[in-house]
This record gives sequence, structure tokens and C-alpha cells, in this order.
Amino acid sequence: MAEPPIPPTPPIPPTPPIPLVDLRAAHAEVAEEVRAGLERVLASAAYVKGPDVAAFEAEYAAFSGVRHCVGTANGTDALELVLRALELAPGAGVLLPANTFVATAEAVVRAGLRPVLADVDDEFQLLDPAAARAALVAERSAGRPVGALLPVHLTGQLAPMRELLALAEEFGGLPVVEDAAQAQGASQHGVPAGAWGVAAATSFYPGKNLGAYGDAGAVLGSDERLVEAVRLIADHGSAVKYVHERFGFNSRLDSVQAVVLRAKLRRLPQWNAARRGAATRYGRLLADLPGLRLPAVRPGNEHVWHLYTVRIAPGPGEGHRPGRRRDAVLAALTAAGIGAGVHYPVPVHLQPAFRSLGHRAGAFPRAERAAAELLTLPLFPQLTEEQQGRVAEELRRALG
Ligand SMILES: *Cc1c(COP(=O)(O)O)cnc(C)c1O
Repeated sequence: MAEPPIPPTPPIPPTPPIPLVDLRAAHAEVAEEVRAGLERVLASAAYVKGPDVAAFEAEYAAFSGVRHCVGTANGTDALELVLRALELAPGAGVLLPANTFVATAEAVVRAGLRPVLADVDDEFQLLDPAAARAALVAERSAGRPVGALLPVHLTGQLAPMRELLALAEEFGGLPVVEDAAQAQGASQHGVPAGAWGVAAATSFYPGKNLGAYGDAGAVLGSDERLVEAVRLIADHGSAVKYVHERFGFNSRLDSVQAVVLRAKLRRLPQWNAARRGAATRYGRLLADLPGLRLPAVRPGNEHVWHLYTVRIAPGPGEGHRPGRRRDAVLAALTAAGIGAGVHYPVPVHLQPAFRSLGHRAGAFPRAERAAAELLTLPLFPQLTEEQQGRVAEELRRALG
């Protein structure tokens, strides 16, 4: 009698990669609502300035603790619109941190103003009030006074707003504009991001905590005149059709994006809570890894963990090529299917596009060190404990 055939061993399933952010997982949670909303927009054909845009603006203003919200085409435009609406003297300085996404500085230039950079602190990589003060004094002494402050709430927590508002007062009541693109739902001493300054700009780029299905952004504020000026400039300088009161351009939020944002805004508090849970879990999983510094929450801040950024201590003799060890860890994680990233590898003052500002390497040492050491790990609301375990394991291996 023939032996029964030996069943083939099943192939070991490949471990699926872990993305930096999983936008498909977020969509799955809102798919029904988005589909119904899109049907509504298609039926009405109100693609621009439709009722969903107005409804989202009201809902997001309420969520952010401000009176008004104006939807825009993207976050960079939102920043530029606020800076234009402030009507500062042409070429006036606007103070911002050297460690930010380039859009913050771009918007300043596009508004006909001059970026004035200051270093960040070493612990949280946020605009440092002492460095900001030194820059304000230096500009004043040089006869080029700064006209506004533009702090950035980077990675999901607020810059030190009490200190920066006091500084703005001391220098003649300068307007403070918040770049809140990475801080949707974050707060400081209970006051939401966007409700501290004279106005704030935010971005709904798909990967942000509140992300659209394309480009989108918004301006937030409670100063009626300023917000109305933004609305005017963003709509060809016109409040009444074919009457153009001032020079403007076109930067509007469309109804398709408003539908997506309304559905996602309803989940944002629970999604931010899930991000906080994941950040706490990383804190436990990574606590004893050598040569690794974990991100810290500034006292008084409610962090929303747009990015979970660890710091990799430089290897021996790395001085002449900063970032080498971090880059090696990043490469090892990438090879293992872990979607890590770097935010941001080159600070604003060392970008070729901003060479004309005249800064050399060494000008903002804390921002430069952060750029060489920071590493962003996967973090999104649907990230599982099992996935985080794998990230920690691969990171442990990569650190050797
Ligand atoms: C995303 C982002 C912006 C720009 O937003 P876009 O919608 O991409 O134009 C500005 N500042 C910061 C800090 C950002 O993260």
C-alpha cells in the first residue's frame, strides 16, 4: 500500500511592511460617510463655495476655539494669506524657527516679507524664546525691525506661546501668527492651537492629523476684520461678484474636500487619543534602547503626535559628516519594511532656495543637530501594538 503523500509545507507569509502613515486605514473608517457626502455634492453640483464648505468652516472654528475659519487651497496659501492681510510694511521681517517645513519660510517670501530665523530649543525642537529675543534685538539694532512672529507647533505640540506672546508685547505689540499645520486638536494650558495668536494657518494635506483627499488648508482667527481680509484676498479680492476691492488671488477650499474633512473631524478627538496611546506604548517599548532619545512633551502641552520623532546619538567621529549614524539606522529600518522618515533632514537656512538669507552651517546649531539626529517612526491612529512591537524590535537590531 502506498504511503500517503506528505503535504507540502505552507510558505511562510512575508511580513507586511509598516507604513509611516496608513491613509487607507483612516479612509476605511469614514468611507460610508464620505461616499454619501460626495453623492450630495455631485447631486447639487456646488463644487466651490457650497454648503459643505460653510458647514466645515463653522465646525472647525468651533473645534479650534476661534470665531472664524476660512478654508483655503492649502496650508502654504493660508500662511501667505494671513501675512498679506496683516499689511505689514513691504520687506518687513517675520521671525520663524530654523527647524520647520520649508513652507513656513516660503509663505513669508511670497507675501513680500523677509524671513528672520531663530534657533529652536534642544529638547522639543520648538522656537526658543531666548533665541527669538536675540534675533529681535539684532534686527532692531541693524535698523530692520521685525513685524510679526511666526512660531510653528511642530510634530503636534505647541511652541511656548505665553513666553512668545510676552516677547511680542515687549517689542511693541507684534502680531503673532501660528503655523498650526501639525497641531490639529493640540492645546497648551487648555487653549487650542490656533486660538493663541492674532490668527493661525493650518494644512489639511492628506498626511496631517486632519487630512483631506488632496490639498486643502484653512485660516483661523477671532479678529473679524483680519479674517474678512483673508477671505477677500483668497477670492480674487472680491466680496461682491465682479467687484474687486483689492488685489487678491484664488485659494479656496472645495466642497469635495469639505465633505472629507467634515467626516474626519468627527473622528479627530478619538484619533488623536489613539495617537497618544501609541506614543505612550512606544515610550514603554523603547525605554531601554541604547543611544536613543525619546520625544518629550513640553509641560502644559496636550500633544497630538503628528510625528513621533526619536533622536539617534551620533556615532564616534561623526563630526565631519553629521547624520551618518541616523541615516544608517533609517536605511536598516527601510530594508526591514518599516516606514521611517526624517522631519527634516536640512534646516531652512541651509536649503539652496534660502541661500540669499546669508546663513552658513553653524548659524543655528540646535536646529542643525536635530536635523542630523531626528528619526520619525510610524505613527497613526490605527497602528497596532503588534506593529509597534515589530518597529521596536527592528530599531533595537538597527542600533546594534
Ligand atoms: C504641511 C505644512 C505646511 C504647508 O501646508 P501645505 O498644505 O502642504 O501647503 C506648513 N507648515 C508646516 C509646519 C507643515 O507641516
